[in-house]
Amino acid sequence: MSRVYNFSAGPAVLPEEVLREAQEEMLDYRGCRMSVMEMSHRSKVFQQIIDEAEADIRTLIGIPDDYAVLFLQGGAHLQFTQIPMNLMKNRVADYIVTGTWAKKAWQEAARYGKANKVASSEDKMFTYIPDCSDLPIDPAADYVYICENNTIYGTKFKELPNTKGKLLVADVSSCFLSEPVDITKYGIMYGGVQKNIGPAGLVISIIRKDLITDDVLEGTPTMMKFKTQYDAGSLYNTPNCYSIYICGKVFKWLLKNGGLEEMKKRNEEKAAILYDYLDSSKLFRGTVEKKDRSLMNVPFVTGNADLDAKFVAESKAAGLENLKGHRSVGGMRASIYNAMPVEGVKKLVEFMTEFEKENS
Ligand SMILES: *Cc1c(COP(=O)(O)O)cnc(C)c1O
Repeated sequence: MSRVYNFSAGPAVLPEEVLREAQEEMLDYRGCRMSVMEMSHRSKVFQQIIDEAEADIRTLIGIPDDYAVLFLQGGAHLQFTQIPMNLMKNRVADYIVTGTWAKKAWQEAARYGKANKVASSEDKMFTYIPDCSDLPIDPAADYVYICENNTIYGTKFKELPNTKGKLLVADVSSCFLSEPVDITKYGIMYGGVQKNIGPAGLVISIIRKDLITDDVLEGTPTMMKFKTQYDAGSLYNTPNCYSIYICGKVFKWLLKNGGLEEMKKRNEEKAAILYDYLDSSKLFRGTVEKKDRSLMNVPFVTGNADLDAKFVAESKAAGLENLKGHRSVGGMRASIYNAMPVEGVKKLVEFMTEFEKENS
């Protein structure tokens, strides 16, 4: 059986090796004679799975002891709420609005306090990252919030904003583990795993430990306190056991393949193949400012909606799946996460070259 090249933005491609390993362990996880889906989250076997997953992501990123790693549920969306509930002590926060997800987070935070939009790129359909070197940071702000890689629009912060000493909170859903990061620059770095790590239904949040306190907004549900989750080792209630298990396997796959330095190298190589072609093409063009281009999500158009639709249909028939752009922007988008092999990107560019010949 040959699998498609899957360019989905999320849920997205996983390393084939990881899927095969999970397949082998499906009926009998290492002599337990049951699958990971069937075992108690309080069992010793599962405890080892979650402990190893945490240890491995700590190794990959280089997370120091003063940061906690939490495995949470509710998607990135619930973090739009959980973050203000836990951090908005002065009821003030600054948001940099660079796309749909940042905007949603900003709107949600406004339900709990004064959420300032300190910068935005909405004037040009979110096709760039604004200059964040000298923003009007509110002296009372509890934190500054960014969406580091904009999955829908295909832009990425190449430099973190100058928060003027305020805590930085970042949604890294679509660039999680795509390159080395200095976690100490962040108060919280979190992401839904279904983009660049594992199966949907799990959020990993890396939080500086001094931010995990009982001092949360009045009325915050028990489940929504970071402290509840932290004190229980992410096992306050039944977690998404299977996703944690698969993510753990992906961490091992990343470690085996050279870690985040190597991922960055591969991701730059893959993205360059596609962007170089887009820059030389007379039919297709990329839609965002070159300096802000994402390595993970590459939106492009022909400028003709009918031709875009034809491209999406024909690419699908050729085994290149999920190239349709997000419903809010149209056109095409190729998501080329860690697990997308370079062969997939080469195949895509070959197909585009052929399509260009036939349609110009
Ligand atoms: C997909 C995505 C989200 C939304 O994730 P859910 O898990 O569906 O809530 C938020 N932020 C970013 C950057 C995303 O890519």
